[in-house]
Amino acid sequence: MKQYTPIIETLFDYQAQLGEGPIWEEHHCRLRWVDIGAGTVHFFDTTNNEHQQYKFPVRITALAKRKDGRYIAVSDCGFVALDFCNQDIQFITDPERGKPNNRFNDGKLDGQGRFWAGTMDEVYGARAAGKLYMLDNDGTLMIKINSVTCSNGLAWSHNWETFYFIDSLTYSVVAYDFDASTGAISNPRVVIEFPIASGLPDGMTIDRDGMLWIALWGGGKVICCDPLLGEVIRHIDVPASHVTSCTFGGLRNETLFVTTARDGLTEAELLNQPLAGSIFKVTNIF
Ligand code: CA
Repeated sequence: MKQYTPIIETLFDYQAQLGEGPIWEEHHCRLRWVDIGAGTVHFFDTTNNEHQQYKFPVRITALAKRKDGRYIAVSDCGFVALDFCNQDIQFITDPERGKPNNRFNDGKLDGQGRFWAGTMDEVYGARAAGKLYMLDNDGTLMIKINSVTCSNGLAWSHNWETFYFIDSLTYSVVAYDFDASTGAISNPRVVIEFPIASGLPDGMTIDRDGMLWIALWGGGKVICCDPLLGEVIRHIDVPASHVTSCTFGGLRNETLFVTTARDGLTEAELLNQPLAGSIFKVTNIF
């Protein structure tokens, strides 16, 4: 198979504190993402380079667009529905209201429109203080994984038979058998392990060939892994060390969009990384 040399460019020069959760909206050629640090939601229209920023009454940490066009999100106050016109929210449920140090983190829709999202202890990073939840279309909330330290990347195989999950502090990707009809997960097994020196595995997406693309926080890279072989097969250097997440979009879904952060960098590191916090696009991948 011919391997191309990917080209990384700045899509939007922006100083996000904690850029995260990119989603591509193909009908409008827009990228949407959040800045968890600033408590803002952004969109960028790739047809005219227009950028807009939204602020909601709660801090949004991940969002998704449902088939009916409405947006669902998780926040520091649990699951909410978003009203972009009025920059307002509707509370859905907050299973961790009694845990003031916890907030939601990454979240994504599965193929049936159920919203999966997990939590973490934002204050102390306490081990196993978070959980992974699934909010079903009828409003039922289920705990899917009971002990999670830093709930992050989520992805499903194209046949919807495998679910991939990253709890960052495990430095691994765990695969589960996935039952698309019920959302049940079973048979967890580690498919990829990372050396600590590579950085923390963070957000994740899957490409058309079933390969996983994983952002490395502190690693300055997005890596592409084959989950069947358990091997890193490609990597892309990003001009910012705190790489947070990535998603495919653009024409023919062949562009990888990458979010980054300024959080956790010293003044000196920020001087050396003037693009930290920007949104990048990677082309010439396929
Ligand atoms: Ca993340």
